[in-house]
Amino acid sequence: MDWKKNKKLQDKAIKVLKKITDAGFSAYIVGGFVRDTKLKRIATDIDITTNAKPKDIREIFKNNYCTTGEYGSITVEVQGVYFEITTFRKEISYEDNRKPVEFIYIDTLEEDLKRRDFKINTLCMDKSGKIIDYLNAQQDLEDKIIHTVGEAKQKLREDSLRILRAIRFATVLDFKLSEEVKVAILENRYLLKSLSYERKKEELEKIFTSKNVENGIRLLLELGLDEYLELPKLKELSYVKDLCGIWALLNPEKYPFSKNEKELMKKIKAAYQEANLQDSLTLYQYDLYTIMVASDMKSYNKKEMIKKYNRLPIHKRSDLAIKGEEIIALLSIEKGPIINEILTDLETQVLRKSIKNKNLDLKKYIVKHYKKC
Ligand code: ATP
Ligand code: MG
Repeated sequence: MDWKKNKKLQDKAIKVLKKITDAGFSAYIVGGFVRDTKLKRIATDIDITTNAKPKDIREIFKNNYCTTGEYGSITVEVQGVYFEITTFRKEISYEDNRKPVEFIYIDTLEEDLKRRDFKINTLCMDKSGKIIDYLNAQQDLEDKIIHTVGEAKQKLREDSLRILRAIRFATVLDFKLSEEVKVAILENRYLLKSLSYERKKEELEKIFTSKNVENGIRLLLELGLDEYLELPKLKELSYVKDLCGIWALLNPEKYPFSKNEKELMKKIKAAYQEANLQDSLTLYQYDLYTIMVASDMKSYNKKEMIKKYNRLPIHKRSDLAIKGEEIIALLSIEKGPIINEILTDLETQVLRKSIKNKNLDLKKYIVKHYKKC
């Protein structure tokens, strides 16, 4: 998908803006979508800012699917796209250096832009497609730099998530942080300790999945955030592309992971710790994905590892050219743990290439080693 697809989204968003302005309100696309379009980057979601109150929005979009978010913004579904519509507001107070617990609705766009985090996130577009840039955000986009809207120290103190957002935008967009932002991060980085692990993980994952991940990690380390994020292994992180691989290496204790993620990380860690991952019997224990990630972590030649894996004579027990029932019949024995033992032995012999994975060869081996006279 290329960024020109943004135009399709934009056309839909403009229809939404028109619906709101036809009802007598003002409305603009704001933030990430306009920023990313200007930078010729793919945008996925669209935020709209308006002087219409949530109840007005519900009325205007009464025939659409709407949900109300945590801070009174309304998400409206229009032709399969979700638009987050937020009323112009001024934030009054914050709780735990994060949530704005108190805000008031205001009348002007300019005033609303002042509550936002970074200048690059204040660009707007009106219903005619015209860019509105009250805070000179376009200059920052040109200079590839991140400034806060207003005083950096206060902005980051109000909401510590902004520390990680700053680093995320610098990484993903390949921008610099202004000196003022860097100083404010150093002064407020201790606040990261009380930010929820869910939010930390969310932002970190956007950094770790960026093609500029190395710059992101360098920035996190330069600002000493590894300590406050409780990620002591961040320093040792060699360049690993896979997200689960990165988490497996970081081994974070308090961050939340799904059961599936935990299982993947466990497997990757086990494969990474294998003394001889290239050995056939060891390779056989893992799937190709795990081998690829662990190879990356060990700086092995991935192509060679894929070849080695693909050349294994079998990849799973059911690939053996004999079934348990055949062994039972061949040895005239009862079902029992011995069958598993024999199958394990066969897997080893076949992987070591001591015998071929052919039904007759396997049978001969079984008769020779397991048939009681
Ligand atoms: P992306 O969607 O690519 O993550 P975005 O800039 O659109 O980037 P959102 O989280 O969708 O980010 O938020 C939309 C807009 O709301 C931002 O552009 C910014 O203007 C404002 N915003 C979001 N989070 C904050 C915050 N923590 N503090 C201040 N303003 C914020
Ligand atoms: Mg957005």
